[in-house]
Amino acid sequence: MDEFALIRHYFSRLTDDDASIVVGIGDDCAQVRVPSGMDLVLSIDTLVEGTHFLPGTEPAHIASRLMGAAVSDLAAMGAQPAWFTLALTLPRADEAWLAAFSEQLGRCARQFGIRLVGGDTTRGPLTLSVQVQGLVPAGRGLHRRGAREGDLVCVTGTLGDSRAGLDIQLRPDAQPDRLPASSLALLQRFFAPEPRLATGLLIADYASSCIDISDGLLADLGHILKASQVGARIERQQLPLSGALRTYTDIQQARDWALCGGEDFELCFTVPAARWDALCVKLQSHEVPVSCVGEILPASDGLCLEDGGVKLSSGTVDAGYNHFAQGNSA
Ligand code: ADP
Ligand code: MG
Repeated sequence: MDEFALIRHYFSRLTDDDASIVVGIGDDCAQVRVPSGMDLVLSIDTLVEGTHFLPGTEPAHIASRLMGAAVSDLAAMGAQPAWFTLALTLPRADEAWLAAFSEQLGRCARQFGIRLVGGDTTRGPLTLSVQVQGLVPAGRGLHRRGAREGDLVCVTGTLGDSRAGLDIQLRPDAQPDRLPASSLALLQRFFAPEPRLATGLLIADYASSCIDISDGLLADLGHILKASQVGARIERQQLPLSGALRTYTDIQQARDWALCGGEDFELCFTVPAARWDALCVKLQSHEVPVSCVGEILPASDGLCLEDGGVKLSSGTVDAGYNHFAQGNSA
């Protein structure tokens, strides 16, 4: 199958007719219509076999991971997903692989409300890039730079699950068909991140800053602190942990993973204390839980970690945070 037949067969049919797409797959560029009064937000994410996923990972899992991670960046900006392009580098045209990959890609695209409008296909070591494009009201959107002293630090969902999902895969005795339901749920968190799109849109009018958690809460909160020139206090005991994670490991390991394990693709955001009650009213009928895990401090405080109100350690915002992990939480 040549490159053009491959594109036609597996990818052209993923685009739907949409009034916003003036020209879709098949021309030199896609042409899309940005509604007046909106800004376009863009982000690109790449997965490389052997670096971001283990060789032999199922193509459907790769598609879910790719789309979940890319669209999560739109959620973190409080954006409405609109279009995406796909750059595929494939070692060979493996039709079974392409069928499974493109089917799952299409499923995720429909679920997240984002449309494929173009891409590039080349031969080489398995590498996948997705560039996502979304819309925010002109001049608005959520950014890393707006946190202020006294704001509350919040996170969506539960943390640490994806790190546990990685742990399960790395076990030498891993046998997927023998795993308990709780472990399957953790694997699902690793392979199929759920971008918090609805939450991003909901908090956009309340939050002072936001980021999605791809490298771990401490590392990603560190980006907010740096961009906003503030410090923060995080309380270990307030970290939201899933039942599945608590079943899988002990509480200290679970909290370490919640702080430092990456790829949860939850949102970390800050809210002025005066806006918190109004946001809580909005969140009452929202399906994704939001937890308050700390507070923004002056820049001079750096990032402080507490356990039951007792200060464990603090780091400069620039530092790596691995020293927070692993059993120094006594
Ligand atoms: P060009 O050489 O002009 O860049 P290509 O031959 O690379 O064009 O691609 C032809 C058309 O197919 C373009 O519209 C491009 O966006 C689309 N395309 C190529 N690869 C993919 C892909 N993996 N997924 C979706 N669209 C693709
Ligand atoms: Mg090309």
